[in-house]
Amino acid sequence: MAAMKDIRNIVILTGAGVSAESGIDTFRSEGGLWEQHRVEDVATPEAFARDPDLVLRFYDMRREAIQTKQPNAAHFALAKLDTEWPCELLIVTQNVDDLHERAGARRVLHMHGEHLLAWCTACDVRSPWTATLIQRPPCPECGERALRPDVVWFGEMPYRMEEIYAALREADLFVSIGTSGAVYPAAGFVRNARELGAATLELNLEASQGTHWFDEARHGPATQIVPEWVEEMLGD
Ligand SMILES: [Zn+2]
Repeated sequence: MAAMKDIRNIVILTGAGVSAESGIDTFRSEGGLWEQHRVEDVATPEAFARDPDLVLRFYDMRREAIQTKQPNAAHFALAKLDTEWPCELLIVTQNVDDLHERAGARRVLHMHGEHLLAWCTACDVRSPWTATLIQRPPCPECGERALRPDVVWFGEMPYRMEEIYAALREADLFVSIGTSGAVYPAAGFVRNARELGAATLELNLEASQGTHWFDEARHGPATQIVPEWVEEMLGD
């Protein structure tokens, strides 16, 4: 890959593999069941319309669970890179937890939303939220009882795609960390980055579905290979 000394602007895509070692399970990839429902079936707008209590309980449980988890060495390493990297850097995360932020990262974009926000479908305002939604609390902004999890469901458009593509256009290096390479549009970022001339690096537990698109791939636990890569970048 291009010599690291030529790297200025970096876009980092993170996925479930970064949070897995913090004990947050990766429900997208497993085809898992939750109370006899396919998880995919409680994470759609259709499910919410059909059975809102079911969907709200599912997200209440996950929102509660992530608040008991802690950032791991991969989150802390990326936060250090964010703090110390002198040029442009953007962490685009598919994760809806707040572990990047709790580790100290600031330049984070949540393309699939955040567990700790509630989105009011009446006034469109997002409010910080740590409690449950099942009892239909009023929106802090407008008072309507129209809050839903601010999480992008299957079939909905990911957030802030224009910003992401703008960052990819400026990137000298695109790094994909802990993602399966199976969920679009994120799975296509590596090809965008390549076409625009960026070097590309995969850091993942195992070879992803898109691993052949990367200039270089390193495989192993995120808590090991991410801090090693960050040290290389910072020249520690
Ligand atoms: Zn509202």
